[in-house]
Amino acid sequence: MADAQSQQENESTQASRDIFAMDTYMNVTAYGVGANEAVRRAEEEIERLDSLLSTGDQNSEIYQINQNGGGILSEDTAYLVERSLDLYQSTNGAFDIAIYPVMKAWGFTDDNFRVPEEEELQELLTLTDVNDISYDSRTKEISFQKEGMQIDLGGIAKGYTSARIMDIYRECGLKSGLVNLGGNVQALGTKTDGSKWRVAVQNPQDTDQYIGVLSIQDKAVITSGGYERYFEQDGKTYHHIIDPKTGYPAENGLISVSIVTADGTLADGLSTSVFIMGKEAATEYWRAHSDEFDMILMTDDRKIYVTEGIANSFESELDTKIIEKES
Ligand code: ADP
Ligand code: MG
Repeated sequence: MADAQSQQENESTQASRDIFAMDTYMNVTAYGVGANEAVRRAEEEIERLDSLLSTGDQNSEIYQINQNGGGILSEDTAYLVERSLDLYQSTNGAFDIAIYPVMKAWGFTDDNFRVPEEEELQELLTLTDVNDISYDSRTKEISFQKEGMQIDLGGIAKGYTSARIMDIYRECGLKSGLVNLGGNVQALGTKTDGSKWRVAVQNPQDTDQYIGVLSIQDKAVITSGGYERYFEQDGKTYHHIIDPKTGYPAENGLISVSIVTADGTLADGLSTSVFIMGKEAATEYWRAHSDEFDMILMTDDRKIYVTEGIANSFESELDTKIIEKES
């Protein structure tokens, strides 16, 4: 007998779930025939990836790899490590999964926040060179060349998760769906009426407000900002995106970066990387990769910059400048 639920489904069926995972609130929504099955599988996938990739969970694959200084990676983890190694090269070291020992020193991993001594950071930075990771893409064996090296896929995991949910939605035969993983959005197709999804980009200085609205179809919109996770000490704010060149939270004039592209994994990796680069380096990087992604930047003087490819899809009441391919 056919599944009773799917028998009742039609084009206007909507299924939605709220989930808390990967330290954040998530929502998955699917439309049309197959929607209930799709959100059920999406939730399973989120839980599967969370328990695979979590750095803190003693049963996770990443935890085991970090304890043992290496091992054989499963398919998902191998894919993410490969993408991360590529990003390390292409971003000139900004995206660095070996940053974990420094994340721990700042207390971002267990909420025991502290400002480490300069000396301690310099010492730990000797463990954060991705070139000291040996990885064989054929056997999927990874090993760390230095004692104490550890990896963290937190800068890319949520984007991969939303990309995987898009795969699941397509496998379920859907044409329309949306996921929001703690402010990171990815959309399948359009809304059921054929119009584009409208994604609000949060204002980093007041997260109840937004800086503008972006219209998208089949795209991820992934945002990084220092406001997502931080602590204060002696009147100074320290956030969780670390510049691997210094060991300190990145302070290069950007307060928010949104990356827009069909590839959720890339969007997440780049949101972290571009935030670290700062506006000038990010503009140069985008000009060399403008067929791969678009971006919205907000600087600490409250100016907004949007790349040419999405300039017509972004509506904002704030002062907005367009970054063009040719300077
Ligand atoms: P969020 O997870 O808040 O959406 P990001 O995608 O920018 O924001 O990811 C931040 C996370 O990325 C940090 O919590 C940490 O796990 C990891 N991270 C921090 N600095 C770096 C870095 N330089 N390269 C790669 N990952 C990083
Ligand atoms: Mg990221």
